[in-house]
Amino acid sequence: MNFLNWYKEQSKKYGAAKAAKLFARVYGARVKSELANRILPAKVECPVCGWRGNRFYDYIEGECFVARVECPQCLSHGRHRTLFSWLKNDYRLDEKTGAALVCAPERTIAPLWQSSAKLMVVKLDIEAVRGVDVLADLQEIPFPDDAYDIVWCHHVLEQIPDDKKALGEIRRVLKPETGTFVVSSAMIEREETIEFGRAEVGLFGNWRSYGQDFPEKVAASGFAVEKIEFNLSAQEKAKFGIFTDEKIYLCRKEA
Ligand SMILES: [Zn+2]
Repeated sequence: MNFLNWYKEQSKKYGAAKAAKLFARVYGARVKSELANRILPAKVECPVCGWRGNRFYDYIEGECFVARVECPQCLSHGRHRTLFSWLKNDYRLDEKTGAALVCAPERTIAPLWQSSAKLMVVKLDIEAVRGVDVLADLQEIPFPDDAYDIVWCHHVLEQIPDDKKALGEIRRVLKPETGTFVVSSAMIEREETIEFGRAEVGLFGNWRSYGQDFPEKVAASGFAVEKIEFNLSAQEKAKFGIFTDEKIYLCRKEA
């Protein structure tokens, strides 16, 4: 992490006073983690980049604090490591053919998509970041119907003003029968989704907090939705720093 850039970013979002407090907290936690990684035996490993050490870094941004979650080398979080392991070992991405639309591509998973030689990968985002191929809004996807074998979309729908419209567009560009839409979102404990009616600055600009009804909302847009079960043992989860049970859904377009 570049601390100066991090500080500037936090300062822009939360103001200088809060950013200074956050900086002290992050720096203190970082020094402690680095020391532990130097002198204590390796206990954790990142499946994405192969880094090994005693502990992952704490993640602190605004009000959000997650202990021992960020890989010091590739900056992946537990969620990325879960997705990476599933794509590589269970989904066997390297054997897939056809075309994949990767929405808001995760930096840490990019090498895996690149190494899938038989797949044509199109990276789409609304901002020119993370080496995207197409600048576009998911509410208006600039591709023809039934064009994609895979659509990949994680922690994106909560940031879109009209999520139904985006889901309709994803359904439109997904191939019928064989096409797979792999999706997840940040979800809160409560059953029902809370709509804010605006981009909530304190919540990463999210337009809503999805509740446990998220899969039903996806299904209502014309998908058969199935929760993915991960083939990771408790030991592997501990080793890979995966503490939360990610709810990720594999969807097919309903006729
Ligand atoms: Zn890593």
